[in-house]
Amino acid sequence: MIEKPALVWLREDLRFDDNPALRAAADRGGAVACLYVLDDEVAGEWKMGGAQRWWLHHSLSALQDDFEKFGGTLILRRGNAGMIVPQIAEELGAGAVYWNRRYMPWQIEQDKALKEQLSEDFEVKSFNGRLLNEPWEICTKSGGPYKVYTPYWKQVQQRDIRDPLAKVQKLEAPSRVPDTDKLDDWGLLPTRPNWAEGFEPVWTPGERGARRRWLDWLKSEGAKNYASHRNRPDLDHTSRMAPHIHFGEISPVTMYREMQQKIEDGDIPQEEGNTFLSELAWREFSYNLLYHFGHMFDEPLMDKFKGFEWDNDEDKLEAWKKGQTGYPIVDAGMRQLWTEGHMHNRVRMIVGSFLVKDLLVDWRKGMKWFWDTLVCADPASNTASWQWVAGCGADAAPFFRVFNPITQGEKFDPDGDYVRRHVPELKDMPKKHIHAPWQAPKDVLRKAGVELGKDYPEPIVDHGKMREEALSRYKAIK
Ligand SMILES: Cc1cc2nc3c(=O)[nH]c(=O)nc-3n(C[C@H](O)[C@H](O)[C@H](O)COP(=O)(O)OP(=O)(O)OC[C@H]3O[C@@H](n4cnc5c(N)ncnc54)[C@H](O)[C@@H]3O)c2cc1C
Repeated sequence: MIEKPALVWLREDLRFDDNPALRAAADRGGAVACLYVLDDEVAGEWKMGGAQRWWLHHSLSALQDDFEKFGGTLILRRGNAGMIVPQIAEELGAGAVYWNRRYMPWQIEQDKALKEQLSEDFEVKSFNGRLLNEPWEICTKSGGPYKVYTPYWKQVQQRDIRDPLAKVQKLEAPSRVPDTDKLDDWGLLPTRPNWAEGFEPVWTPGERGARRRWLDWLKSEGAKNYASHRNRPDLDHTSRMAPHIHFGEISPVTMYREMQQKIEDGDIPQEEGNTFLSELAWREFSYNLLYHFGHMFDEPLMDKFKGFEWDNDEDKLEAWKKGQTGYPIVDAGMRQLWTEGHMHNRVRMIVGSFLVKDLLVDWRKGMKWFWDTLVCADPASNTASWQWVAGCGADAAPFFRVFNPITQGEKFDPDGDYVRRHVPELKDMPKKHIHAPWQAPKDVLRKAGVELGKDYPEPIVDHGKMREEALSRYKAIK
C-alpha cells in the first residue's frame, strides 16, 4: 500500500485527459494533490500577459470544478515556484513529485534545478504532455536540429504518434492538505475598465470548453474544407483551438490521433485533414526551434538582422496597436485582437509585415503587444512566427517579399466582410473600395458616410514608398 501521496505540479497541462504526469500519479496508487503556481518571477518581463491572465482565471476555475468531481486536491500558490514546490511537497509529506515538461530556456533551467534538489527526498519524474515529439527526437541525418520545416514535417509523418492516455476519473485526496490561495485574490481579471468583455461570448476556457469546441469543429465545414478555407478571415473557419492547446486543456496527441481517425473513417477528406495535422506540426517546429536556439527568444536567428535600422516611431506603433493605420485589413486585424484576444492567422501575417516593413518598427515590439493581447500567446509560436514574418527566423518569409495590405485584403477578404465586421465605420463601403478607401471617388465615400481623416484615418504611410525604403534598409545589411 502506498502511504505517501504524490504531488503533481501542473503548469501548461490543465486537464485530466491524456495527462501523463497526472495519469502516472493516479496509477501509482495512494492520494494525489495537484499544485498550480502563478510564478511571475522566473519569467521576468515575459510573465503572462493580460489576455492570458483572463484565460488562466477561467481555466483554473473550471479545473477546480473538475477536482470536485474527480477527487484529489488542487492547491493554488503565487510566488517563486523554485521555493514553493519543495515547500508544498514537504508539507504534504509527499513520496513523489511529477510534472509534464516545458521547453523555454528559463523553464528548463528552473525544472532542472528543482529536479536535482527534490530528488534527494522524493521520487521525481517528468513526462511529455505538451508535444507530439520531444524536440530532441526529430533530427537531421547529421543529428542536429531542423531549421527548415518541410523535412521536419516529413519526419513527423514517418513516426507513430502514441495513443492518448485514459482520462483520470478518480483521485484520492490526501488527508493533510497545505493551505491554498483563493483564485479571486490573484486579481487575474481586468476591472475598470473590463477590456475583456468581448472575450466572454467567444471563449469557454477549461477542459470541457476545449473538448466541446474541438468536437463541434470536427463536424463543421471548417474542418471539411480546412485546406481551402484556412486563409479566409471572412469565413472564420479555423478551429480556434490555440488557447486551449496553449494552456494544455487538450493535448496535441489527442487532437492529432482523433483527426487521423476522422480521415481514416472518411469523415474528413485526406488533404484537408492532413493540412490541419501539418499546422499542429508547425507548432511543434516552433518548439523545436526555441528549444535548440534559446537565444532566438529576443535575438534574430539570422545574425545579419542585428544591424537592421529600425525607425521605431512611437506614434505609428500606437496607431498600429489601436487599429488606426488607415489600411482596413490591418485595422480590422488589430481590432479583432483587442476585442476577442484572437486574430486570424492570415491577418497576423499581414499586420506583422505591415509593422515591420511599412512602419519599420522592430518585430520585438509587435511580439510584445501580441504577448499581452493574445489569449493563445505562446513563447514558442509567437517568437518563431514573428521572426518568420520579419524574415529573420528559420525557414522565414524572405524579407524582400513585402505583403501588400490592399491586395492581401482583396484576395483573402474578397467581399470585405471581415473588415466590415471589425471596422464598423466602413460597413457601407462597397467591396470595390473597401480595402483602399482613400482611392474611392468622393461620392462613393459620401454615400458610405465616410469622411477620411474624421470617421476613418487617411493611410499613415504610403505603402509603395515604404516598401522601397524597407528594401533599401535590407540591402544595407545583406
Ligand atoms: C505574427 C504571428 C504571431 C503568432 N503568435 C502565436 C501565438 O502566440 N500562439 C499560437 O498558438 N500561435 C501563434 N501564431 C500562429 C497562428 O496564427 C495561430 O496558431 C492560429 O492563428 C490560431 O488559430 P486557430 O487555433 O484557429 O488555428 P488553426 O488553423 O485551427 O490551427 C490549429 C492549431 O495548429 C497550430 N498552428 C496553426 N498555425 C500555426 C502556425 N503558423 N504556427 C504555429 N502553430 C500553428 C495552433 O496550435 C492552432 O491552434 C502566430 C502567427 C503569427 C503570424
